[in-house]
Amino acid sequence: MGKAIAIDGPSASGKSSVSKGVAAALGFIYVDSGALYRGVTWQAIRKGVDTKNAAAVVESMHNAEWDFFVQEGAAVFSVDGDVPVQELREKDVREAVADVAAVPEVRRFVVENLQSLENFGSLVMEGRDIGTVVFPDSPYKFYLDADPEERAMRRYRELVAAGEDEKAHEVMDSLKKRDQIDATRKADPLKVAPGAQVIDSTSMGLDEVIQSVIDVVKGAL
Ligand code: C5P
Repeated sequence: MGKAIAIDGPSASGKSSVSKGVAAALGFIYVDSGALYRGVTWQAIRKGVDTKNAAAVVESMHNAEWDFFVQEGAAVFSVDGDVPVQELREKDVREAVADVAAVPEVRRFVVENLQSLENFGSLVMEGRDIGTVVFPDSPYKFYLDADPEERAMRRYRELVAAGEDEKAHEVMDSLKKRDQIDATRKADPLKVAPGAQVIDSTSMGLDEVIQSVIDVVKGAL
């Protein structure tokens, strides 16, 4: 069984860049757990399901065929034969995903699939509940944080770079809304896992954060 490095934190805390960097440096498989919640949301939307209707979302999720594989160092999934990537970042998915991810049966499905990825090898997995729920026994747990303004600015720059036309204050509002849903939901809310190393990246560069994670992991390996 491989090792699993858990990297949790709120939206736009830098989890993705840090996790990818750590995975590349250690030769571990990078896993974006949020992509799977987005995938369940995308599948529901493309089937015309109302994403506020939990039972219908769960039904569309179970009716689909999900496959997992590793491609270029990252875990990837297909839904009914399609591999959504760009689609998962679209606005309709982004706006509905926190509601879908609050459905306990969706979480159960996603968590089980994430746990099974260990069969592929050692992982760096980013998310909201990786250290608390998915791999609670992992000795390598991190909680990445940054000030809300800094996170909103980072997300805004990402969206602009991706050609999305959004206003900075709208990004800030939607980030706050998502943080609020993620931190207060009943099923596996975002919180610091026991034993997790908290890193505040507000005034740290990306390489610095990656290096501090690697130093802790190497020290523990
Ligand atoms: O990380 P990302 O922004 O892609 O996650 C999208 C959404 O998926 C989050 O806002 C959260 O609602 C949900 N999520 C989760 N648990 C995870 C990863 C993501 O609930 N481990």
